[in-house]
Amino acid sequence: MAFWLFKCNPKQYQIDKRLHDPHSTITWSVSRHRNQIGPGDIVFLWANGKGGGIRAVMRVDEPPRDMLELESEQGYWIGGDTSFICRVVGTLTNRISVTTDFLRAQPVWEKLPVKSGQQGTNFPITDTDGETLLGLIERFHHEDSPGVSQWATDEGGEIVPERLPEGTESPARQQVITQRVIRDTEVATAVKRIHNFRCQVCDVRLETPGGPYAEAAHIHPLGGENPGPDQPDNVLCLCPNHHVLFDYGAFSIADDMSLLGMEGRCRILPGHMLNVSNLAYHRRNIFNAGAEK
Ligand SMILES: [Zn+2]
Repeated sequence: MAFWLFKCNPKQYQIDKRLHDPHSTITWSVSRHRNQIGPGDIVFLWANGKGGGIRAVMRVDEPPRDMLELESEQGYWIGGDTSFICRVVGTLTNRISVTTDFLRAQPVWEKLPVKSGQQGTNFPITDTDGETLLGLIERFHHEDSPGVSQWATDEGGEIVPERLPEGTESPARQQVITQRVIRDTEVATAVKRIHNFRCQVCDVRLETPGGPYAEAAHIHPLGGENPGPDQPDNVLCLCPNHHVLFDYGAFSIADDMSLLGMEGRCRILPGHMLNVSNLAYHRRNIFNAGAEK
């Protein structure tokens, strides 16, 4: 068993989109080390470019051979891939995003073939460095570490895209009082992670020594006579400034996600839609109420 690092250019192969597809069989082109790569090898799949890093771990299932790209992969290639070239077929065993910024702070970074900007797609990794990387990834199964986000695995070990938790309709009042002091709910944490801690209004991601910081803002507030639900479609990922402005009714959000009271749009992601009835509540009771003062 050997360790490898395979790179891809997300501008040609949309790896993040691919990893949200639960299908676990994947291929990778092999331009070097064809005779050394074999079944059982462990491959770290690396996305080049800004925001890059390790995106997944693949177990090699078959020796490399000349073949066409699988039909199931075609949708992720910009313009498709019809070349008959050497590829390896494997199984995605772990979908994880370990960012370059995070890895730079690890001793193993010095040994990785990505640091020196080496060209090529397939790089060998020493057993020691491979075990170190697996150890880092394993640790993140148990710790919520900044710089690392995790795709979910279901109980049978099969990999599924991360799903937002259901949440509860009637959250305990203790969770209501402040955003900063009381620990985030599971819902708040999941929403921030799916947005990678970027504000849905201004796109800012605050970097702190302890990792990225964002706030979970409830659209229909949890407190008051008529508390809103602590569910993902009632939660925004915002920077502290936009959180305060939103809570105090300085701006609101129309059903088409354009902002009211200020320029811009609220960025949404396919995996995290907002409930328009909560937006209507905010417009009616917080935005307009503020405007009348
Ligand atoms: Zn913001």
